[in-house]
Order: sequence, then C-alpha cells, then structure tokens
Amino acid sequence: MFQIHEAMNHPCEGVHDHELCANARPPTWRNPTPCERYHLLIVGAGPAGLVAARGAAALGARVALVEQHLLGGDCLNYGCVPSKTLIRSSRLYADMRNATHFGVRPPDRIQVDFPMAMARVRSIRARISRADSAARLAAEGIDVFFGTARFTGGDTVDVEGTRLRFKKAMIATGSRSMLPTIPGLAQAGYLTNETVFDLTALPASLLVIGGGPVGCELAQAFARFGCRTIIAHDEPLFLPREERDAALLVAEALASDGVEIHLNTKAMNVRVEGAKKIVETINDGNVATIVVDEILTGIGRVPAVANLNLEAAGVAFDPDGGIQVDDFLRTTNRRIFAAGDVCLEHKFTDTADASARIVVRNALFLGRQRFSALTIPWCTYTDPEIAHVGLYVRQARARGIPIKTFTVPMHDVDRAIADGEEGGFVKIHVHEGTDTILGATVVARHAGEMINDLSLAMVAGIGLSTIARVMHAYPTQAEAIKKAANAYTRTRLSPWIAWLLRRWINR
Ligand SMILES: Cc1cc2nc3c(=O)[nH]c(=O)nc-3n(C[C@H](O)[C@H](O)[C@H](O)COP(=O)(O)OP(=O)(O)OC[C@H]3O[C@@H](n4cnc5c(N)ncnc54)[C@H](O)[C@@H]3O)c2cc1C
Repeated sequence: MFQIHEAMNHPCEGVHDHELCANARPPTWRNPTPCERYHLLIVGAGPAGLVAARGAAALGARVALVEQHLLGGDCLNYGCVPSKTLIRSSRLYADMRNATHFGVRPPDRIQVDFPMAMARVRSIRARISRADSAARLAAEGIDVFFGTARFTGGDTVDVEGTRLRFKKAMIATGSRSMLPTIPGLAQAGYLTNETVFDLTALPASLLVIGGGPVGCELAQAFARFGCRTIIAHDEPLFLPREERDAALLVAEALASDGVEIHLNTKAMNVRVEGAKKIVETINDGNVATIVVDEILTGIGRVPAVANLNLEAAGVAFDPDGGIQVDDFLRTTNRRIFAAGDVCLEHKFTDTADASARIVVRNALFLGRQRFSALTIPWCTYTDPEIAHVGLYVRQARARGIPIKTFTVPMHDVDRAIADGEEGGFVKIHVHEGTDTILGATVVARHAGEMINDLSLAMVAGIGLSTIARVMHAYPTQAEAIKKAANAYTRTRLSPWIAWLLRRWINR
C-alpha cells in the first residue's frame, strides 16, 4: 500500500534539471506506508539528515526521513556544490586572463560563456545527487517521505496528513538565508543563494550585500566572469569571524579582481528606474547611490524552525539561535535530538555531518559523545582561500591560555612560488611552552586542502615536534606547515644546548 504524494508546485520547477529531480525529488514518488513506530525519525534531508539516516539504517534501525523540498538540502542544491562548481569556472577565467604570466599566450579574446558555466553547475549537481537519491535511500531500507513535517506531540509527527510515530527523532531542518529589511528591496527583486544558481545570463552589474563567506565567494566569482561587481558590507572588514590579517588578504584579492568594495556601508533603500535597481547607501554619514542590474543578499543564515510546531513536542528554540540543545545534542524533549545548521553556531556541512553521527550514537546506542569535543575546520573558498581550525588568538586570550604563534608566508614556499600562488600564509598557534596545536589559520590557494593536516594533528594529539619529523613531499604547498613546525623546533634550541653543540663540533 502506498500513498501518492502530490506536491502543488513541484520544488524542482526552478532547478532546471531532470536528473536532479529524478534523484532528489522524483515527480512520481509515493510515500511509503509508515511502520508502527520508527527507531529514528529524521526531519530534513540535508547533509545532517542524510548521514544520520544512512548511519542508523546501516546499524539496523527502522528509519523515516522526511524532506519537504529536495534531498541533499542546501549543500547540494543551493550551497556548497553549486557555489564551488561556479567558483571553479571563474577561477579558470582568472587564470586564463593571467596566462602570459605563465608564458602562455591566450587567444585574442577570452570569452566567458556564462550559460555554459551554469549548465556545468547543474550537471555536476545532478551527478552528485545520485549518491543520495530517493531510490538509493529506499533500497537501503530508509522510508523516505516527501512533505512538510509538523510535530503533533512528544513522539509524533504529521507529514501531509500521515501520522508517524517515533522512539527517537532528529531535527535537521537546516537554515535559510537571512533577508534584509531594506525598504524597496522586495519590490525591486533580489537574488539569494536559493535563486542565484538559476541565473542563465550573466548580469552586467551586481551588488552583493554582505561580506561574509557567501558574499565574498560569490562577489569574486561574478567579478571574474566579467560582471561589474560591488560588495557592500556594514562592518570595517569582511569575514568578521576570521583573523584580521587573513580577512585583509581576501579584501585585497577581491579588489585586484575588480570588485568595488564598500566597507562600513549600509544599504538604506532600493528603487527601480527602468531596468536598473538604484540602491541608496550610507557610509560614515555620506549618502551615495549604486546603480545595478541585480542585487544578491548574503547577510547571514537563520535556523529553519518555523512551521515545525515545536511547542507541541516540548522542544525549546529561539528564532535566531535555533533549537536549544545540550552538549549531547539533545533538545528539551529527551526523545528528540537536533543536528546541523538548525542548532549549531558553526553552519558548515562538515559540522552537520559530524553532529549527525553524534546523534545516531547518543540517541540509539546510549552514547555520551559531546559536541564540544569536536575539532571543527572550515574554509571560505575565495582565491586565496581562508581556512581555520581550533582557537583564534582572541579566543585563547579570552580564556587566559598563553599561546605562541608560528607564521610562514606562502612566498617562502618553493611550490607556491613555482605555481605563482604566493599570496597568504600558514599560521599555527601552540600552547606556549609546548608543541600542542591549539589552532591554525591558512590563507593560500589550496588552504581548504592544507587545513586538514592540521585538523588531523589536533585530533590525534600530534604536536609540532612530530610534524617537524614527518617528511613532506617536495615541492608541495603543505611544506608551509612543516616550515612552521621547523620554526617551533628551532625555539627548543636553548642557548645552553647551542653552546654544547658548538663545543662538540669544534672539539
Ligand atoms: C552559498 C552557500 C555555500 C556554502 N558553502 C559551504 C561550503 O563550501 N562548505 C561547507 O561546509 N558549508 C557550506 N555551506 C553551508 C552548508 O550548506 C550548510 O551548513 C549545510 O547544508 C547544513 O546542513 P543541514 O543538514 O544542517 O541543513 P540543510 O542543508 O539546510 O538541509 C535541511 C533540509 O531540511 C528540509 N526541511 C526544513 N524544514 C522541514 C520540514 N518542516 N519538514 C521536512 N523537511 C524540512 C529542507 O528542505 C532542507 O532540505 C554553504 C551554504 C551556502 C548558503
């Protein structure tokens, strides 16, 4: 017995891709007949929901996975995957424009084919969607329900009129783009991460409002495609979370790609004149006007807690902070856990994945794994990339932890010089007097790859003295990490030992 799920407006309509729809939201999907009670019911099939569903089902649990839109969530459909795919094309254009620097004469005119770049985004998104297709999940024994989940009690959920009962549940409804309340913006129309990847033509000009990771990544990408791009951010520097020297390098990189930078600038109101959007901004009391074809907002994310009827389940939440969880990711209802963007400050796919794994252990197997024990790396995929793991200097200071920092500029790394990718640095913070790594920031073209070595070291308790003993293939950009470790070992050479060594050599 099956029920036919009828979506009024099929969510794939704006996505322009048949294969993605067939995988992430098959148009003819029939929701299964629910079992009497699920061991684990999961609301939301983004990275957190998918990881938990597959993990729990593989361990023998009866699992229901409810998704109101597309399997894969933000990451696959409107986030990591399309943005990184588009960034790859824009990076290639930037490299081609710089080809003479490498002794390559580019064709007379490098032509940007934006529709083709966007077609590539859609085809890559579709290809990646195969891994978590509805059919595949069903074959793994997961009951996939399409529809909006609403709690009707402490152990029940309603999905489009069907009641599902659970022993344990996990809320993984993610987050959505925070919408600015700028007068006239809604009437003028604007893009968010949910619509920008539907563009089929490159706008001639674009105002990006917000200089966080999403704003910086997309501003640089659009500028590299040849779109006149302006970024307005209402703080003194981009990427407020990152160390200032790192954020400054990104600002310089954006400027050298031709992005017009307006810092300490607020968009006040928007009006439309003909086909143009006129944005009035204010900076230090000075009012200015920016005229563009499109506006993209990337001012932050808010947890998706609306319409879940959390009150009925006794789950406490805050519209800004999301679902309240303890260190074991348990909500105020002991049966219900949460994972991913909906409850975490760190809104990344890696964190969604790791938190979901914790929930499977804690909810189903009496685990006592703490979220606070995780070492969380992240990366902003501008060029150069900024990646970070562990503590920042300011956090160490606030906690009274004495730290010492070892910094290696990328222009001291042979491979970075050979590659013409010398912008950036590796900065590693250790607990003063020891080689224990507390945190690190990497700014480099491949910082996202390099940070993983440092995360591994932190999780495995590997200090800088061990890293200094590890041979690194030459020439690689990750040698910057070894150079920082070598700098640490040199500090171990006390004047007394140096004197002894000199005496020994000169004996
Ligand atoms: C432009 C952009 C680029 C990004 N790039 C990166 C990156 O490079 N690296 C990185 O680590 N992170 C990146 N992120 C962040 C990353 O996408 C999120 O952290 C990640 O998707 C969070 O996963 P999640 O499972 O918590 O939630 P989501 O991916 O948001 O999934 C939640 C799902 O729940 C569903 N849902 C919501 N309410 C209900 C309901 N009531 N009933 C049923 N289903 C419901 C939604 O439809 C959605 O599919 C990016 C984000 C954006 C916006």
